[in-house]
Amino acid sequence: MTTQGSVHDCNSIPRIALHGPGPAPVPPEVLEAMAQPVLGHLDPAFGRIMTEVSEHLRTVFRTTNAMTFPISGTGSAGMEAAIANTVIPGQPIVIGVNGAFGNRLIDMARRYDATPIPVTAPWGETISDNDIADAVDKSGAPVVAMVHAETSTGIAQPLQNLRKQLGPDPVLVVDAVTSLAGSPLEVDDWGIDVCCSGSQKCLSVPPGLAPITFSARAVAHAAKRSDARTPWYFDIGLIARYWTHDGGARSYHHTAPISMIYGLHEGLRLVLAEGLEPRFRRHEEAGRHLQQGLEQRGFRLLGTKATRLPQITAAATPPQIDGPEVRRRLRKEHALEIGGGLGEDADKILRIGLMGHGATIDAANAVLTAIDSVT
Ligand code: PLP
Repeated sequence: MTTQGSVHDCNSIPRIALHGPGPAPVPPEVLEAMAQPVLGHLDPAFGRIMTEVSEHLRTVFRTTNAMTFPISGTGSAGMEAAIANTVIPGQPIVIGVNGAFGNRLIDMARRYDATPIPVTAPWGETISDNDIADAVDKSGAPVVAMVHAETSTGIAQPLQNLRKQLGPDPVLVVDAVTSLAGSPLEVDDWGIDVCCSGSQKCLSVPPGLAPITFSARAVAHAAKRSDARTPWYFDIGLIARYWTHDGGARSYHHTAPISMIYGLHEGLRLVLAEGLEPRFRRHEEAGRHLQQGLEQRGFRLLGTKATRLPQITAAATPPQIDGPEVRRRLRKEHALEIGGGLGEDADKILRIGLMGHGATIDAANAVLTAIDSVT
């Protein structure tokens, strides 16, 4: 066996400033944590790390839910776990759709034989709480699913009043992949039952884990669905025996991605050391600075000041600017990654992320200066 070339290959990975819609840049502390020796997935020392990961996730999700842990998989795995453990075959699920990730929820719900009832708003706009509540009243849907931060458009869906409109019954599922640790999210106060996220956005950890939390109500709802065919890998009842284990021994479900969990553990430590409020402020200041700079340069931003997320900005290019060419040149000449659009007119949209470790005014200025040099 030859290892020839491996050192060279490793060193030849280019250093790219990640300012697309994800993954976000990963701080050196997280990379260093991930390089530590691998423990067994049932080792007591690893168990202590798991306990702390769950505790820290509760703080970041702002919940007391016992069932709080990362699913081993990317953000989509978290979405799928949320859907697979809540929908009931043959029954409606009301889904808010104002972008690509709302559509993904619809697709997932169909695959679990539920009947999605989309409540739509044009891409770039928010969905009305009343429309969601009306759809629930008319359909009797036991589950509602919403995207909190729609990464395809850079729009925040306000969720703080939705539970009041819905009343106590429907199980409320929220995709917070792009909002967690970047902008305010209050799982318990907002009456969210299932909230899923991803490691690769504002947590600034590499892609590969999907933090998720289930309220006690959602756990009871998941368990009593007699017709549901929850996939084995995503069955939260089974995963819980490994992650939450009710004070007893942890039992094997799958071999956890140990190094990723070290990374998440360190990423969460950094989030909590900074503090959630200062972290949100940092994202806010960097994002607004970028957005102002883009508008000054003739880009039209989706949404309004009130609805735009700071951590991801979707900007329609002025007619003289060729979006894909700008992205290609930024990557080639500035070692800078930004994203293109999703959906219709994708080539006329640039998406710029200032997430996690990358959410700084300096990064915003670096992106603007680089754009100036290629346009
Ligand atoms: N949901 C939202 C809102 C997202 O932005 C993304 C990824 O961009 C996902 C889900 C899926 O996450 P992943 O690509 O990590 O599977």
